[in-house]
Amino acid sequence: MSVPRSAFSAARAMKHVLAIAKRPHPVGSAEHDQMRDYLIAQLRNLGLDPQIQNATGVCTRSADAGRVQNILARMPGRQSGGPAVLLVAHYDSVEAAPGAADDGAGIAAILETVRALRAGAPLLHDIIVLFTDGEEPGLLGAAAFVREHPWAKDVAMALNFEARGTTGRSLMFETGPGNLDAVRVLRTVPGVTAGSVFTTIYRTMPNDTDLSELALLGIPALNFAFGDGADRYHTSRDDIAHLNTGSLQHHGQQALALARAFANGPLPRQRTGDAVFFDLPLIGFVVYSEKWAMLLALVAAALAVVVIIRSRRESTRFGRDVVLGAAATIGAVVLSGAAAYLAGLVIALLHTIVPWGGAPAWSPVYWAAVAILSL
Ligand SMILES: [Zn+2]
Repeated sequence: MSVPRSAFSAARAMKHVLAIAKRPHPVGSAEHDQMRDYLIAQLRNLGLDPQIQNATGVCTRSADAGRVQNILARMPGRQSGGPAVLLVAHYDSVEAAPGAADDGAGIAAILETVRALRAGAPLLHDIIVLFTDGEEPGLLGAAAFVREHPWAKDVAMALNFEARGTTGRSLMFETGPGNLDAVRVLRTVPGVTAGSVFTTIYRTMPNDTDLSELALLGIPALNFAFGDGADRYHTSRDDIAHLNTGSLQHHGQQALALARAFANGPLPRQRTGDAVFFDLPLIGFVVYSEKWAMLLALVAAALAVVVIIRSRRESTRFGRDVVLGAAATIGAVVLSGAAAYLAGLVIALLHTIVPWGGAPAWSPVYWAAVAILSL
């Protein structure tokens, strides 16, 4: 079945992955230079006028610095030169990994998105494509863009695409500040996987992507990554054979739909507070303002009081039932948390015994995340 030219096609995007993820392409390697040249050629093929930003990137979150070559292109909208939507992925890999998923999938998703955008009607605002360099050694390209590139001040919305595994759904796991507005737009995209519980936990974690540097722009942003098959992350098995085409499709259809929605909508976006959001089977994606959370909690508490009063009239063993019920509820939470924590300990122990790859250095964070999620 052929996919319409204005739609995202993972089959078309996969051709880019095949071209760029044959071998690892860390900063300083010949493969890295070939990758840069390939991306420049592809952006030219798409009718854009790509440029290279040669700069020294200085990470603001660690003591890392180095020379980078960011690749940029600007797709003009009908109101060209003003606020723009930024599409970001990094084109360097770690030394061990061919980087089919991290971040070949992000790069390929953006190239195919730009192709589909150019096949459709012109957008209102500009799209800026940023293929960052030196993400793996310390977000160096993103830092250099924020600090030095003249287009940085035009960015009104940033969409970043990453991977922490080779398969699974492309989860929206991080937002910019005051995310209610951006998440409302996200709701218009079919098949979104996201939850404010994930974005809230992520804000407390030390993990970084290019968005950590772009956050200095203080702009709204959405960050996507798939993370199943995490044992292949940063290993030789982050390769073409293990990249799930479905994950690439999920990355890309969200990139395309959001690029269209934000570039055709008002820019800069209105300032809002944070949202509570989650996706449910059958019901779909639910979004409401964080302001409603306290009210909903009070309503739930009031309903609990009503139930207690009613059951007190009906039951002679009221006191014992309430205590047992409350104890069972709290006990279940504590036990499931403890079980998950123990499971995390076992997994971390296995990591030290079996050389699975992955990132055992994160294991304390991992235990905490598993325990919190189990609640
Ligand atoms: Zn990455």
